[in-house]
Amino acid sequence: MTHSARLPPQGAFNLQDAFAEEGCPVCRIVLQNVQRLIESTNYDALGDPAIRAELTEATGYCTLHARQWLETAFILGTATLYRDVVMRTIRELRGLSGRSPIGGRLAAALGGSRGRGQTADVGTPRRPCPACELRDESETALIRTLVAQLEDDATRAAYEASEGLCIPHLRRALGVSGGSVAFACLRDRALRTEETLLAHLNEIVRKHDYRNRQEPSGEEKGAAVRTVIHVAGASGIDRDRAG
Ligand SMILES: [Zn+2]
Ligand SMILES: [Zn+2]
Repeated sequence: MTHSARLPPQGAFNLQDAFAEEGCPVCRIVLQNVQRLIESTNYDALGDPAIRAELTEATGYCTLHARQWLETAFILGTATLYRDVVMRTIRELRGLSGRSPIGGRLAAALGGSRGRGQTADVGTPRRPCPACELRDESETALIRTLVAQLEDDATRAAYEASEGLCIPHLRRALGVSGGSVAFACLRDRALRTEETLLAHLNEIVRKHDYRNRQEPSGEEKGAAVRTVIHVAGASGIDRDRAG
């Protein structure tokens, strides 16, 4: 069983709960799922060789999730998981000859690829980071669920009262909702969000003028930070991934 298969799919119930919270509901649930995966792996990996094999194939977590792992994990779970990764690296290093098995002009004609390829194989991930994989699967499932649920009047009303999606998740949701009631709902909610953010940013700039600096902060307080998160997605979402 893979890491991601051990967690239940997050459906409409969680999404509608997340509508009432601050920020993008998809970001919120996706990041909760990743955190739960890391926490459960911390316990389950000790007794489950399949989980350890999966992480060894991935050469451990990616840089982002390795940092998250270190913030969460126990030392025993870390040592157990990463011992396997280190043993794999030792096997790969011992398998290297230290020189290209074919030399001279023939190696040059072949681009020297065999010798360089061997070196490059040390520590090469043979499967995605399990936390990245779960994040991607969760996003796809949640966006499909959201778009389907927005056909329902009550869910649409709840979504319209929420903050709506961040831009990376909005782009994906619009992409799978073309022509539907959900599409209009997503677009209209997003327009209101953007217009509100723009008004708040304008207010921040206006109050920054020395003539207005004595005015107290209003609703625009925190809007600069909210806008950056809205545009990029929450930390850990990585808007630049394909798909
Ligand atoms: Zn989001
Ligand atoms: Zn990752």
